[in-house]
Amino acid sequence: MTPFTLKALPYPEGALAPVISERTVRIHHGKHQAGYAAKLNQLIHDTHHAHDDLEIIMFHTKSEKKEQSIYNNAAQLWNHEFFWQSLTPEPAEKPSQFIADRLSNVFGSVDAFRTRVVEVAAQHFGSGWVWLSASRVGELNVDSTHDADNPLLWGARPLFVCDLWEHAYYLDYQQDRARFVQAVVDRLVNWRQIQSRLEKLQNRNAA
Ligand code: FE
Repeated sequence: MTPFTLKALPYPEGALAPVISERTVRIHHGKHQAGYAAKLNQLIHDTHHAHDDLEIIMFHTKSEKKEQSIYNNAAQLWNHEFFWQSLTPEPAEKPSQFIADRLSNVFGSVDAFRTRVVEVAAQHFGSGWVWLSASRVGELNVDSTHDADNPLLWGARPLFVCDLWEHAYYLDYQQDRARFVQAVVDRLVNWRQIQSRLEKLQNRNAA
């Protein structure tokens, strides 16, 4: 049984070029992400996790020493699905006034938000992810997580993510992580998704 499959990209493999090359996307999605799905299926086969969804598996395995491989592969699969959704091919739409105002309140301006993401990404040591997330009460934060971790684990809602593992950028940018992340935040951000996730959170908090 293979409960988890490789979700199709929301755009063609070459659509993010030249910021992210077709070759990088093909390997990243078709080899790395596919590998996490395959490994996860193998690990949960015939276990009590076999019928759970990804988030439930993540929460149930995070603190179990013996289940770290399951946790890592489940979280990496979640993170990669969200990563592709966080991006959109050029020319990306500009952030709406609603988003621009929210980001300006916290970071000073939309460009200052971009700078913050690049700084956090550049300072992050090793593999991981840089996130824009909202706390339960809707406060926006930019922070990074190590390896497979993601902000759902501390109750925050992810709004945007950029992959900081070398496989995300090495073919296109070699060691220059900051230049990769700068190009992503300048040109590929899916502002519409940030907005819809933020609105959902606000509606829930208002209810
Ligand atoms: Fe990755």
